[in-house]
Amino acid sequence: MTRGLHWFRNDLRLQDNTALNALAARVDQWLPVFVLDPRLAGGARRQAPRIRFLLDCLERLRCDLQKRGVPLLVREGIPEEVLPKLLHETRASLLSFNEDTTPFAACRDAAVRRVVERSGGRVVACSDRVVFRASDVLSAVGEPYAVYTPYRNAWWKRWAKEPRYAARLARLPAPIPGIAAVAVRDLRADGGGTGAGYLPTGGGAAARRRLTRFLDTEVRRYREDRDRPDRDGTSRLSPYLRFGVISVRQCIGRAEEAARTDAVLRGGVAKWLDELVWREFYAGILEQHPRVLRENYRREYDPMVWNDDPQGFRAWCDGQTGFPIVDAGMRQLRATGWMHNRARMVVASFLTKDLLIDWRAGARFFLTHLVDGDPASNNGGWQWAASTGTDAQPYFRIFNPIVQGKRWDPKGRYIRRWIPELRDVPDESVHSPWESGIATTYVQRIVDHAERRALALDRFRNARSRMVRR
Ligand SMILES: Cc1cc2nc3c(=O)[nH]c(=O)nc-3n(C[C@H](O)[C@H](O)[C@H](O)COP(=O)(O)OP(=O)(O)OC[C@H]3O[C@@H](n4cnc5c(N)ncnc54)[C@H](O)[C@@H]3O)c2cc1C
Repeated sequence: MTRGLHWFRNDLRLQDNTALNALAARVDQWLPVFVLDPRLAGGARRQAPRIRFLLDCLERLRCDLQKRGVPLLVREGIPEEVLPKLLHETRASLLSFNEDTTPFAACRDAAVRRVVERSGGRVVACSDRVVFRASDVLSAVGEPYAVYTPYRNAWWKRWAKEPRYAARLARLPAPIPGIAAVAVRDLRADGGGTGAGYLPTGGGAAARRRLTRFLDTEVRRYREDRDRPDRDGTSRLSPYLRFGVISVRQCIGRAEEAARTDAVLRGGVAKWLDELVWREFYAGILEQHPRVLRENYRREYDPMVWNDDPQGFRAWCDGQTGFPIVDAGMRQLRATGWMHNRARMVVASFLTKDLLIDWRAGARFFLTHLVDGDPASNNGGWQWAASTGTDAQPYFRIFNPIVQGKRWDPKGRYIRRWIPELRDVPDESVHSPWESGIATTYVQRIVDHAERRALALDRFRNARSRMVRR
């Protein structure tokens, strides 16, 4: 009789779960386990939107498992210590999990593997989080790509040859008897914290409903609406993808099926799928270059002089910079744990090019507050905005927050939703309220954009030339 444990992490689902399928094929009895690691979810972190969403998903997974007669074991502690003990307690010899390639996770998983194998157990680790790992999509000279467009083309060529759907529900073996589970409800944070009332409903059923709704409606206008923060035009699936509540393969499979049955959807679906490929691209960059979490991808910007400006940083965090599109984005983030992609680009550009504050401070803040906070996509987005990344925005292209606001939120609906102080300012000046002549309680601009633009150009140019001289 072979027994195994599946260690759930960022794969909180039963359908199309590669390592779970692999375990199910190898054992007669099993149990699922989740380890709440205090290094990731301890203390104040427990209140972060991301962790509260995770615990909600976990509770729903527990219910799904319970319906199948399987208890979910939830333990708190360091996985390297908890898992070997649990294997011993349950007399299980196999541990399965889906790989996670962030530096912290890779190091932790290697340690877990060592202790399990040392005590005679075996580990089944599978790639599941992305369709293709960086090493699966190589250029003609056998190198991983560092630029998105050729990567995307190669990615789709590979997909055409080898589509990877496995949207099956694992045939679950019987549970190992006699082990007490811990209800996730005990661990769920009770209310409060940022984004409390706005967090999306966790769990696979909610993710599948959202995907269905998106493919039935918004995807039709995705090409036009995806950049409009005033419209609800994107899928909002990022938190579910972040925790693997739905798999990227399930998303691609369902979207391709929708486009096959309704030709009108093709344009929107193609654009949306390319966004999922961005997610794969950034995951690959982090896997190949773990240093990017701490360092510029482009070393030519290493001599860049960033401002030490705690006041400016505070104003940015609080949505009090006096630039409406920036403040609306930051207030949306603080209130809901999510921010529209266009707003993410604008606020990141404002922090790095107007306030000249190091992108690492912004990336940390985002990771703390985003419900979808993902080290690879977040790093990719920040380094893109700061011009230090792979195919980053060139340093001389600096977003003008007023122009961005007018272009992507022409009637100021997004602005007014998040900045009630500007409710009575007419559309024409809602992006530059200082021109309206209307007295409001809205904060004054903390910098002059034109001046800061010139300063940023100077700093970036100097950084590059210093690097060349070195
Ligand atoms: C500074 C900055 C930080 C970001 N941080 C994160 C983050 O921590 N986590 C995160 O998931 N995304 C991040 N993004 C990417 C993007 O903003 C979000 O994925 C997107 O807004 C999520 O909303 P959605 O699910 O409605 O997206 P949709 O438009 O419906 O896209 C579908 C999916 O494609 C993926 N995707 C879309 N755009 C991108 C992108 N530019 N890069 C990588 N994947 C993408 C996401 O998984 C998304 O759920 C960041 C972007 C920027 C500019």
